[in-house]
Amino acid sequence: MPRLCQTEGLSEDQTEILKAVRQFVDEKIIPVATELEHKDEYPTEIVEGLKELGIFGLMIPEEYDGLGESLLTYALCVEEIARGWMSVSGVINTHFIVAYMLMHHGTDEQKQKYLPRMATGEVRGAFSMSEPGLGSDVAAISTKATREGDGYVINGQKMWLTNGGSSTLIAVLTKTDEGAETPYKNMTTFLVEKEPGFGETAPGLTIPGKIDKMGYKGVDTTEAIFENHRIGADQVLGGEPGKGFYQMMDGVEVGRVNVAARACGIANRAFELGIAYAQQRETFGKPIAEHQAVLFRLAEMATKVETAHTMMVKAARLKDSGQRMDVEAGMAKMVASEYCNEVVEASFRIHGGYGYSKEYEIERLYREAAFMLIGEGTSDIQKMIIGRSVLKDYKLR
Ligand SMILES: Cc1cc2nc3c(=O)[nH]c(=O)nc-3n(C[C@H](O)[C@H](O)[C@H](O)COP(=O)(O)OP(=O)(O)OC[C@H]3O[C@@H](n4cnc5c(N)ncnc54)[C@H](O)[C@@H]3O)c2cc1C
Repeated sequence: MPRLCQTEGLSEDQTEILKAVRQFVDEKIIPVATELEHKDEYPTEIVEGLKELGIFGLMIPEEYDGLGESLLTYALCVEEIARGWMSVSGVINTHFIVAYMLMHHGTDEQKQKYLPRMATGEVRGAFSMSEPGLGSDVAAISTKATREGDGYVINGQKMWLTNGGSSTLIAVLTKTDEGAETPYKNMTTFLVEKEPGFGETAPGLTIPGKIDKMGYKGVDTTEAIFENHRIGADQVLGGEPGKGFYQMMDGVEVGRVNVAARACGIANRAFELGIAYAQQRETFGKPIAEHQAVLFRLAEMATKVETAHTMMVKAARLKDSGQRMDVEAGMAKMVASEYCNEVVEASFRIHGGYGYSKEYEIERLYREAAFMLIGEGTSDIQKMIIGRSVLKDYKLR
């Protein structure tokens, strides 16, 4: 068997793109990742390099100046990038979700207005559902958009905006009063424009500063405070209020494949580091890889990396074929994130005391892996989606 995480049946274009991304990761990301991460420094040069590679427009259709690639190509690129440094995949993830939502739910005017500039990375997207009081229970949001004249006024507080500072366009989920009985139909997504940076970035919109996180450093994660932020009705995603919840859930579905891909990338890197260290470190007169306990640990790690990759690829291919894949995306996300944590911990154990030193990459991966369990829905939430679906499919008659 060659290396892990190989994908059968890729086109020539996909193979070329992945080769270029892998080379970029090996040459430009891995050598600087740990240092930048420890300094919590934004990876400006890396982001400029990704723009040149066309990564910001990877899935945006060619008619809007993107590369028009599939979700699978995107996910495989994310896997490579996260193998180098997970934070960098975070820089493009919310951008990708917002572009995806515009592609699938935006009006023609909205697509024309944003997608070509998103493809170059000039406009950068953030995605905002969560609030201080909720993450999993999206229907409980309280940020409200009230109709006033021919526009709306937004008030409320949002939490955990990845790229909240560096973005210039936020897709924000709000409550609106459509008079529907179910809360799901009383929600609307707005395309909120802002300046990059912190403080009052648009009239009535404050981005207070970066949240100090355990890992996932470099990339900015923020709150967003809306105080009488006025916005035109033409900034309602798709032009019609009341559809926000469904649009966001569609975005989250592809976001889950993305987090699964990130988890695969981290796990693959942890495996690479672990198997290299196990052949170099000697105890009791031989490399530790020759002790069966370590060998078996490596075997389990490799199997988990391969399983997660296979499930992630399956979910991406299903989406690309136009099929519904909420269950497969949930399964891939859950398996990849749980296995990622197990593989990283196993690699950490293989490193012995050095794994606890900040000089070794595994220390960073250990902190990055934890976020995979939370972002785009926890494993409990994935189990709710998977469980309900299998119960429906296997219902006794
Ligand atoms: C670094 C970071 C970046 C983020 N980026 C973004 C972003 O860009 N945009 C955005 O909108 N959000 C973002 N989030 C928010 C993220 O999506 C939420 O943190 C996540 O969905 C979990 O929500 P919560 O934190 O409110 O936890 P809660 O929903 O409060 O859950 C707490 C615990 O209860 C469990 N639980 C909750 N409900 C149930 C249930 N019904 N059954 C069983 N168990 C349950 C959960 O699994 C979890 O273990 C980010 C979060 C972090 C940490």
